[in-house]
Amino acid sequence: MKNLLFIALCTSSLLCRADGLPDLGDVSQAALSPQQERQIGEQSMFEIRADRSYLDDAEISDYLNQLGYQLVSNSSEPGQEFEFFAINDNSINAFALPGGFVGVNTGLILITQSESELASVLGHEIAHVTQHHLARMISGQKFDTITAMAAIAVAILAARSNPEASTAAIVGMQAGAIQRQLNFTRAHEEEADRLGLATLQKAGFDVRAMPAFLERMQKNTRLLEGNTPSYMRTHPITSERVADIAGRVQQMPYRLVADSLSFQLVRAKLQSMQRSPQEAVAYFSDALGPQKHGNQTAQRYGLALALMRNHQSARAAQEFAPLQKEVAHNPMIATLAGQIMRANKSDKGLIEFYRNATQNFPQHRALTYDYVELLLQGLRYDDALKLLNEQIISHPSDPRLYELQARSYSALGKRQDEHHALAYTYALHGNLYGAIEQLELAKQAGTDYYQLSAIESELKQFREIAAAHRK
Ligand SMILES: [Zn+2]
Repeated sequence: MKNLLFIALCTSSLLCRADGLPDLGDVSQAALSPQQERQIGEQSMFEIRADRSYLDDAEISDYLNQLGYQLVSNSSEPGQEFEFFAINDNSINAFALPGGFVGVNTGLILITQSESELASVLGHEIAHVTQHHLARMISGQKFDTITAMAAIAVAILAARSNPEASTAAIVGMQAGAIQRQLNFTRAHEEEADRLGLATLQKAGFDVRAMPAFLERMQKNTRLLEGNTPSYMRTHPITSERVADIAGRVQQMPYRLVADSLSFQLVRAKLQSMQRSPQEAVAYFSDALGPQKHGNQTAQRYGLALALMRNHQSARAAQEFAPLQKEVAHNPMIATLAGQIMRANKSDKGLIEFYRNATQNFPQHRALTYDYVELLLQGLRYDDALKLLNEQIISHPSDPRLYELQARSYSALGKRQDEHHALAYTYALHGNLYGAIEQLELAKQAGTDYYQLSAIESELKQFREIAAAHRK
């Protein structure tokens, strides 16, 4: 089992760097290989995940990945690996890193007026990745390490979204080279639009959403003189660009596409998160009041969520009750239902509820987290481990799953397994030294011969990576 974890971790994270790849000095020569692009993306992600603005919410990232993959599978590179994530930032922006990492600001998710609009932005970013736009920008430069290229990728994105704040980051990083790259983006934008639009259509969304969103962005910019949304800087919108897309869309068949409930629920969750618990309760109560506005199911979900945050679990249960009858099949509704039941200590049938819910929605990690917590409280460590091991096969890069695994092992007194699992948690959070320390503890606690040899080889690889970082 451990071997599987290790392979999974190795194919998807920083460990690949030490995995017998050619000398990193080669990276500046020609076009980057897919592996090199992935490594640049992975390295950039360590910086991004460590940032306060990275939104660590499994429900929101699961939703973005589900929507994103619906598009990827209809793109020019359906087999390419992607990771979609949210940045907790009110400014309107979206960006793509080499290797398939696509970030969307919460401000952008909230300003979209339909799921097709959000999909149009993701489709455009996916095209930047599949056409290697950012990768091509940095590959012509003389950077001799993947780390330097990752740093420059992040600097370019920062410079384009906020020219003032990022000046410091650019100093000493070939400022001239970056500036030139910033200016040559029109062709990239047009290409990303064209391919993004094709993807949007193939995936079954409303294609009119793309010009509608761009036009609104452009109008907003004219209103907010001197305060251009970041999205306009990272993806310059010209009138020709909008006219070109609008022209293409006119030749496509009309299709009315309803938003998914998850899209509405994600927006309600973000609206709740943006406010204090009391403000959120007031906001959603008002939306459900006589002057009803917005999707009523989503507003009710938002109210129940806000009441839970405000420690009013009994009222949350009351307000939430109609939803459970109305909306039978949605993972976010099921997650909140479980949380409300637990907060109200309605323990009867709870295990069964979670068993069914995790079977119905095996990809919804928030449900797994809560179910495991419940199993641990009930001292059912073996059941918890069984569930976690299954989940880790589908989500091998989720540090939270390893953390829960470590807690289960700890309760069972299995110290070697505990520290081994913790090492993965640290590694996936980008804390290499913490990971090495945990592996050493696992080695000291070791009794299982097979696991010991795996730990030894992991230690060797982790130390090689640490040494490469120090250079
Ligand atoms: Zn763009």
